[in-house]
Amino acid sequence: MPAEQGKIDIPAIREGRRPRVLIIGGGFAGTHAAKGLSKLGVDVTIVDRRNHFTFQPLLYQVALAVLSPADIASPIRAIVSKAKNVEVLMDEAVEFDLERRRVKFASSAEMDYDYLMVATGATHSYFGNDHWAPFAPGLKTIEDAIEIRRRVLLAFELAEREMLETGSHPPLNFVVVGGGPTGVELAGAISDIAKHYMRHDFRHIDPAKARVLLIEGGPRLLPSYPEDLSKVAADQLKELGVEVYTNKIVSDVQAGYVMVGDKQRIDAVVTAWAAGVTASPVGKKLGVETDKRGAVVVNRTLNPEGRPEVFVCGDLAHFEQDGRMVPGVAQPAMQMGVHVAKMIEADLAGKKRDPFHYFDKGDMATIGRQTAVADVKWPFRKHLKGFPAWLTWLLVHVYFLIGFRNRIVVMLQWIWQYFTFTSGARLIYGDQRLPGWTSQPGVHAPMESETTDLTSPRMRRAQGVEVEKQKAG
Ligand SMILES: Cc1cc2nc3c(=O)[nH]c(=O)nc-3n(C[C@H](O)[C@H](O)[C@H](O)COP(=O)(O)OP(=O)(O)OC[C@H]3O[C@@H](n4cnc5c(N)ncnc54)[C@H](O)[C@@H]3O)c2cc1C
Repeated sequence: MPAEQGKIDIPAIREGRRPRVLIIGGGFAGTHAAKGLSKLGVDVTIVDRRNHFTFQPLLYQVALAVLSPADIASPIRAIVSKAKNVEVLMDEAVEFDLERRRVKFASSAEMDYDYLMVATGATHSYFGNDHWAPFAPGLKTIEDAIEIRRRVLLAFELAEREMLETGSHPPLNFVVVGGGPTGVELAGAISDIAKHYMRHDFRHIDPAKARVLLIEGGPRLLPSYPEDLSKVAADQLKELGVEVYTNKIVSDVQAGYVMVGDKQRIDAVVTAWAAGVTASPVGKKLGVETDKRGAVVVNRTLNPEGRPEVFVCGDLAHFEQDGRMVPGVAQPAMQMGVHVAKMIEADLAGKKRDPFHYFDKGDMATIGRQTAVADVKWPFRKHLKGFPAWLTWLLVHVYFLIGFRNRIVVMLQWIWQYFTFTSGARLIYGDQRLPGWTSQPGVHAPMESETTDLTSPRMRRAQGVEVEKQKAG
């Protein structure tokens, strides 16, 4: 960890000018910093490549059609509209000149700063296999959530259509790769949607027969949670009908299947990727020390080495406390954002900055519509499971949702859906082809395998499609 700075010299403060604070990234860290800075004698610009803040912990609820995108996202402008000293710019930071204190954007605009806060978060990692991405979308943005929703809902629609047409349909296998909180939540929710929400909606297929397979490379689910909660999560998922596989490494992902190890092939109409995250590529562009994930190594006042005017926060920061890296979750990001505002306030007052200390209140993950696991660390220490954990999860997530309207709307929607099993956001937008559905024109047929019936009408037609395409070519 870099040494803390000695005397902090911010030229604007020395010269009696109002410092300009440039925040790159309007996520958890960025918006919390902006709110704190709104009360200070500084001018703030938040730059984000999107116009909205996304409450990522509820993305999977959009992906599985429980909530609509607007329920979990708010325009950044709206979040800071009352803060007169804060402006918002939609652009993407592409280059940093820390010597000249200047940032260049994708639009080719440039902006100078007195303070720079970088909080551009994290992104998916396919462990060097980025070509898997089209076949196994990850879940990080609203667009990702809508794409997963499209694929899951489309699979049921195509099955109904094919059943009507041919009397059979390919197995509705949904594969989730990665058994961390996102994978666990996605798998539980897909199972719920198939078994409960869709059960009365189709006439020719039985959605409840869908298989949900959760594949984790390590020895247990939720590796960052205490072991007893990992076990509870696995048991609860199995009760929901999810097939849980641990110690299984996915070695390839293609349209229609995934390979596990060298030999085992699992057919999949939809594959979702929840296996790896890496720091936003912006970290490496700063030209300061980064760790092997590309996260920026910061000191106790959240600065990279020798840069007291630069703060790096949230998922992009490698911050160690008690010999361990603070996890890439929302609580530290929010706390870091708030702390940056306090440190700038101290600078303005000519006081010493206090070091950042992460206050860990615990972690929780849902497993379907009424169970969860929670490792509560504050205001008491307890491992919760089942319905009490789910209720705690619900209250905490609703509380932290941005905007009063969202909180009420989401709470009412959940209560309504909980009792009625209805779901209002089951809409399919855009392309009507599914990479994993091999009988569609323009979609590759899967390789031969023990789990693929090459004599089925689906496969014969898929092969016919390929022949037709070759003839046309
Ligand atoms: C599916 C999912 C579920 C999660 N569940 C939980 C949970 O249950 N509990 C929990 O505590 N945490 C959870 N997390 C983690 C949590 O959401 C993150 O830790 C948190 O969002 C990090 O905040 P941040 O401010 O660092 O980055 P983010 O909130 O990701 O914000 C980064 C912002 O930077 C912007 N940006 C990126 N690059 C650029 C650029 N070059 N120029 C301009 N803007 C840019 C992005 O558009 C984004 O708005 C989850 C994450 C995901 C993806």
